[in-house]
Amino acid sequence: MKQVAVALIGAVALAGIASPFAKPVQAQDYPSKPITMIIPFAAGGPTDTVGRLLAQSMGNTLKQQVIVENVGGAGGTVGAARVARSPADGYTIFLHHIGQATSATLYRKLPYDTINDFEAVGLVTDVPMTIVAKGDLAPKDMKELIAYVKANKDKVSYGNAGVGAASHLCGLMFMSALQTQMTVVSYRGTGPAMNDLLGGQIDLMCDQTTNTTGQIKGGKIKAYGVTTKTKVPSLPDLPTLDSSGLPGFEVAVWHGVYAPKGTSKPVIDKLAGALQAALKDPAVVTRFAELGTEPVSQDKATPAALSAHLKAEIAKWAPVIKAAGEYAD
Ligand code: ASP
Repeated sequence: MKQVAVALIGAVALAGIASPFAKPVQAQDYPSKPITMIIPFAAGGPTDTVGRLLAQSMGNTLKQQVIVENVGGAGGTVGAARVARSPADGYTIFLHHIGQATSATLYRKLPYDTINDFEAVGLVTDVPMTIVAKGDLAPKDMKELIAYVKANKDKVSYGNAGVGAASHLCGLMFMSALQTQMTVVSYRGTGPAMNDLLGGQIDLMCDQTTNTTGQIKGGKIKAYGVTTKTKVPSLPDLPTLDSSGLPGFEVAVWHGVYAPKGTSKPVIDKLAGALQAALKDPAVVTRFAELGTEPVSQDKATPAALSAHLKAEIAKWAPVIKAAGEYAD
């Protein structure tokens, strides 16, 4: 009998399901061990950069380490699926971007429910994207780039982080605005894609300023425009796409922190408090500004604000994706 009970508990633990005998997490004891923050893209990319800054600062507030784990693949949906299956004990949290909303339409068969399998903790930041190219691509400005891509559609390659990533969405919008196609090369994140852009293995990419600012300023890659309606203070010479031949082109990336569904409210509130503190932390604020990104206001770094925003963004992008008619399956 004892052996059966031990085997049962072992099987439950192996399956990663919380044991029915486990003590519920008490908010006053939480966190009593390190927390894992899943980033659904490869290390070295923009989501990873935002996540590592947050993890360090949230860890200082929570007085426990927040360890980043990169679980890349399928435009962020592999990492999201991992979080949806993780115990709801506050020791797994998740940072994702706009892709959490767009993948709900792009993938007709997701192994999780975007709305019902996660608890929102809060919004993090708004980040512009930039259209960038390898250093020796010929076009000098956006007007020339448009003509070049249209004339060389069989030759021009475009890197992204898989269907569902922000770089994928921006690329779709770019190709649809130009009424043309490019050869798409997908990576587990735009960190590795940037390495290939720097090496000249791919021609173009659309990525967050968090990943491109340093390389643009260092003269390592070419930049053609920013995807927000207004220019970015950290890249004052870069025109908006809207003003350089692609009127109405606008996409801004937002990030949110989540936990698995069922994580208790006191734990979520503690995490939201640590998130709010991080967004006021001078170490985070200063680095965000250098990378052209802005922390959201404190009232948006809340569960209610992220839940509402996620639903609104799913509704906003669904018709755009359906009109493009491109699905991951
Ligand atoms: N944010 C990137 C994208 O959506 C991926 C990454 O962070 O590596 O394309």
